[in-house]
Amino acid sequence: MSRSKGYAAMAAKAPLAPYTFERREPREHDVLIAIKYCGICHSDIHQSRDGWSDYLEESIFPMVPGHEIAGVVTAVGAKVTKYKVGDKVGVGCFVDSCRTCAPCKSGLEQYCSVRTVWTYNARDYEGVPTYGGYSDRIVVDENYVLRMPENLPLDACAPLLCAGITLYSPLRHWQAGPGKNVAIVGLGGLGQMGVKLAHALGAEVTVLSHSLKKQADGKRLGAAHFYATSDPETFTKLKGTFDLIINTVSAEMDWNEYLALLKLDGTMVVVGLPEKNIPVGAFALTGGRRSLAGSQIGGIQETQEMLNFCAKHGVTCDIEVIPIQKVNEAYERVVNGDVRYRFVIDMASL
Ligand code: NAP
Ligand code: ZN
Ligand code: ZN
Repeated sequence: MSRSKGYAAMAAKAPLAPYTFERREPREHDVLIAIKYCGICHSDIHQSRDGWSDYLEESIFPMVPGHEIAGVVTAVGAKVTKYKVGDKVGVGCFVDSCRTCAPCKSGLEQYCSVRTVWTYNARDYEGVPTYGGYSDRIVVDENYVLRMPENLPLDACAPLLCAGITLYSPLRHWQAGPGKNVAIVGLGGLGQMGVKLAHALGAEVTVLSHSLKKQADGKRLGAAHFYATSDPETFTKLKGTFDLIINTVSAEMDWNEYLALLKLDGTMVVVGLPEKNIPVGAFALTGGRRSLAGSQIGGIQETQEMLNFCAKHGVTCDIEVIPIQKVNEAYERVVNGDVRYRFVIDMASL
């Protein structure tokens, strides 16, 4: 076992505080990573406050959150072939899966039909709790590690490992590209990646934000259009406009209103995870043969593809780097929508 330092929530809703814990010694296929940066995803806040208790079997405390992990390899197990000491690597939302079910075999480990082992707030296949990236190091099987872009700053790439892939995967699956009208609902951590990636893929991008406060940013990030959803006119004007809507909002909202903005055969993909169920009317779907779908991060192969795409197109995340001592303040600011557009913890501050 090796001792690791980090920050943990000791109980649901408790503020995060310094915490020391054990990580396994690297096994023959493991990579030991010195964590340099970790992004703060809204999911970290939902989970450390036990906000998804209606959906998760259990929340495990003490909880060390963090699944946008970027760092450098410091040791490798005897049989590791993919990485060597000194490589710039990343770890996203999961660190293992069964490896034999149909989804795993087709590179969709995030939908493993046995059990995806999440990076934190989960148990590995031996029943040991997993601890995330708000810490100094992590031990991960090489098959669940990503190679980070060489040409881009590591801090601004950390959020690609969740926010980036969560938007890239549905944009690719529903074929965002030239000639497609794509709306991104919510310009937060996920939303800004959606705008940048959809624009880089060649789609015409519209941001639907609750006010016009972020309009200049939206245009700078690549949106052609920007509307406030607080204005009822927006819903009249944009009726039947979009091929694809990706909804990143973390709060309860009326999905029916947004479904009406789809063209015939359009799809709204939900990636935001509000803590309560949202009712959907049948008529909102039948009218334009519309689809309501969901999507969850992306598999290892697709995450690597996304990182390579970002390297090629120079896509990074807009970030605000903070020392770990400010993590609780950062949580409050995310909840209040006061972040442009992702906090990233500089682990040197630990
Ligand atoms: P975030 O940075 O807080 O962004 C959420 C955005 O939603 C805000 O910037 C805001 O955008 C909008 N919003 C927030 N509260 C709102 C309200 N009361 N009414 C209307 N709009 C509101 O969060 P994030 O890190 O991007 O995560 C977003 C959601 O996705 C979270 O629920 C998270 O758990 C989930 N998530 C899902 C996956 C997946 O695989 N499906 C992966 C990662 C995260 P505007 O100011 O532009 O309106
Ligand atoms: Zn996340
Ligand atoms: Zn599986």
